[in-house]
Amino acid sequence: SNFTKEDILKKAEELEVKFIRLQFTDILGVIKNVAITVNQLEDALDGKIMFDGSSIDGFTRINESDMYLKPDYDTFTVFPWRPKDGAVARLICDVYMPDGTPFEGGPRNVLRRALKEADEMGYQMYVGPEPEFFLFERDEEGEATTITHDQGGYFDLGPIDKGENTRRDIVLALEQMGFEMEASHHEVAPGQHEVDFKYEDALKTADNIATFKFVVKAIANEHNLHATFMPKPIFGENGSGMHMNQSLFKDGKNAFYDENDKLGLSQVAYYYIGGLLKHAKAIAAITNPTVNSYKRLVPGYEAPVYLAWSASNRSALVRIPAARGAGTRVEMRNPDPAANPYLATAVMLKAGLDGIKNQIEPPKEVLEDIFEMTSAEREAADIDNLPGSLFDAIQELLADDLVKDALGEHVVEHFVEAKMIEWDVYRTQVHQWELDQYLNVF
Ligand code: GLN
Ligand code: MG
Ligand code: MG
Ligand code: MG
Repeated sequence: SNFTKEDILKKAEELEVKFIRLQFTDILGVIKNVAITVNQLEDALDGKIMFDGSSIDGFTRINESDMYLKPDYDTFTVFPWRPKDGAVARLICDVYMPDGTPFEGGPRNVLRRALKEADEMGYQMYVGPEPEFFLFERDEEGEATTITHDQGGYFDLGPIDKGENTRRDIVLALEQMGFEMEASHHEVAPGQHEVDFKYEDALKTADNIATFKFVVKAIANEHNLHATFMPKPIFGENGSGMHMNQSLFKDGKNAFYDENDKLGLSQVAYYYIGGLLKHAKAIAAITNPTVNSYKRLVPGYEAPVYLAWSASNRSALVRIPAARGAGTRVEMRNPDPAANPYLATAVMLKAGLDGIKNQIEPPKEVLEDIFEMTSAEREAADIDNLPGSLFDAIQELLADDLVKDALGEHVVEHFVEAKMIEWDVYRTQVHQWELDQYLNVF
């Protein structure tokens, strides 16, 4: 950590912080927090704040439920949208067991384990995400609707783009919280937006994604709008993805870059792509974790469907953006913003490291637009599909030892259990589409 306990106590005093939120993420990627007053800050910094793990989705059973929050001092930030008198700060926490060991099922710990393995191989992972979201109107009762806030499209300007003010406030709030902001723009679908922030080391980026999602919701709320990261809220329009740009550095240099290669990529990069593609079907269960996620992953909406990579076209699952040198990176295009960022990063990293360790050559680069290929052409080119549903993805996860190992037994057990219930509830519903289709015909 770059700060000591004394640093944080001093900062809290200087900034007149009254409340501190101790924040962590459950297995399903939902942010949880407990507020303490500044009087308890010292105890909190010492990791003495306890909570009931059995009340958190997928954490523990009733009989082993005491857990501790250990704040990461580097994550101390004051919320910019709270009044100055009685300012509110937050600390992101790791979850510990009463005996002082890290909780195996804590998503942040899962990512730490994967990063440690990378570190042992000499690699640091950097991630830059591209989260997309919708802004919807609220009705008179304040409830979210699916009426889009505007009719804008890709890169539109105001007055067609009515999200400008909300996006600006989002960017300003995040900057005050220490984010380095990059592009923000209207996305392809009406009411859809993208706000990008700078790549950072993988743990920081996962923290940033978690923070980003609630900041976007909080600021949208101030504009009387509902922000959603649901992957496919509107039939017939693009869904919201969260492309994950990833690179490995070794000895301060980008390990994916090789100026002598025809595409400027190193052997390490090719193996990393090989690992990602080998495990992509199982990874999908984590990067695309809802029933709704698979309604985004269909042809025709700029979302990936096929297991392929390309340096030139966006129809592939894995794309290599044009930047080379320090900016050389691999863009995984299927993740969506409903994913738990810690778990998603951990499984992608472990897949990439598997590629490097076991020298997994990727298939041939696909240069043509895969959406234009016939199924026979795809078969001839050996191009397989991502899973078509949450159920299929869970089966793939259960069949992939590497991805299961990356998550650890605890997370696999609880994640799969929760997702199979989710699937079963969905599967047995009678949807409006079925009524429209069958009620009169039969
Ligand atoms: N919204 C698209 C997706 O679902 C991405 C569009 C884009 O960023 N070009 O992944
Ligand atoms: Mg983008
Ligand atoms: Mg985009
Ligand atoms: Mg992208």
